[in-house]
Amino acid sequence: MSFRKIIDSVPAFYEPLLPQVFQTEIPPEPFSDCLNCPMIDTPGEDPGSNLSKPFSPYTKCCTFTPRLPNYLAGAILTDNDPAMQEGRKRLSDTIMSGQGIFPNGVYPTLEYHRSYIERSRKEFGRARDLRCPYFTEGRYNCTIWKYRETICALWFCQHLAGTRGREFWDAVIDYMKFMQESLINMSAYMCGLQPVDPYGEGGRPEYHEPEDPAEARKKRAELWKEWVGHETEYYIKCHEIIINLEHDHILKIHEKGASLAKKIKSIASEIIKLPEYLVLNKDLAHASGEGYYQVELRNYIEILQKQIIWSFRLPKLILDPFDGKSGTTEVLRQIAVNEKIKVEPEILIALCRHGVLAEKKLDL
Ligand code: SF4
Ligand code: SF4
Repeated sequence: MSFRKIIDSVPAFYEPLLPQVFQTEIPPEPFSDCLNCPMIDTPGEDPGSNLSKPFSPYTKCCTFTPRLPNYLAGAILTDNDPAMQEGRKRLSDTIMSGQGIFPNGVYPTLEYHRSYIERSRKEFGRARDLRCPYFTEGRYNCTIWKYRETICALWFCQHLAGTRGREFWDAVIDYMKFMQESLINMSAYMCGLQPVDPYGEGGRPEYHEPEDPAEARKKRAELWKEWVGHETEYYIKCHEIIINLEHDHILKIHEKGASLAKKIKSIASEIIKLPEYLVLNKDLAHASGEGYYQVELRNYIEILQKQIIWSFRLPKLILDPFDGKSGTTEVLRQIAVNEKIKVEPEILIALCRHGVLAEKKLDL
């Protein structure tokens, strides 16, 4: 396992649009392996009984409907990759239904939004009727993976670097939301439309559709202007605008997002820094059979407001040398020479950030 660039976790579509900070190398998130999701229980198991596997195999964490930005909707609609066929069809069907479509993009309906707010704390990761419309059962669960929205791309259920890792990804999400908003607004305005948020977020008024059909038609006509009835073409145009954006426009967005980028950089450099002296915390590493410790890591899942615990065994010969007497670099050198084991930096980061290896302060 080696470090990865932040950009490797973001859909490739964004590569020409993101600033240098996204090239920063960071530890991977090996505990959030979506293809072999470690968070799902076994079918038939009493739901919720296994505290380290809170989600259902029929939903995983996709009991959420993303807000697809207008330009990403256009990207999906114009991508002829056979792997995108199902996602393209589902998106086209949603646009045809007229539900949840706005100049901003394709959003969950107001009804879904309310239900999600009310139920997600107890039913996130379990309720099939909250499942994302782009979800499909099986190993590859997402029909629009190539163009998945920010939360889908950057939400990790378990963080290698614990709380600080979560804060790091929150900072990346904040940047990506800022980038999404900038691109949504720019493309909508360039098409002559006002971006409208159905939930009144981002300082915009809430969108209410009148119950009277004639009034609703009138309101939709005002919202969509010359694009009414041509929403698919509108999303395609937004995509075209964004992929042809001039470099100066992109630089202006980067300038506005400078403080968000700075936060990402600062947390990233803090996460990879290891204390000079480390000592094994035996409260979190329990002897387990001959030559092993059972190590417990905890992760707080905000949406569930719960701690998830996961544990694994590590050989004593790589943990016992951390006795606080020799410096971290020297301990790693000794393990490499004596045991012929290279302890990867991300393992050390995980153990430090979860308190299994604690910093030993030197007596001055
Ligand atoms: S992010 Fe979701 S799908 Fe991926 S490993 Fe975690 S729970 Fe499973
Ligand atoms: S868009 Fe894909 S990753 Fe996101 S919630 Fe839906 S199925 Fe899951």
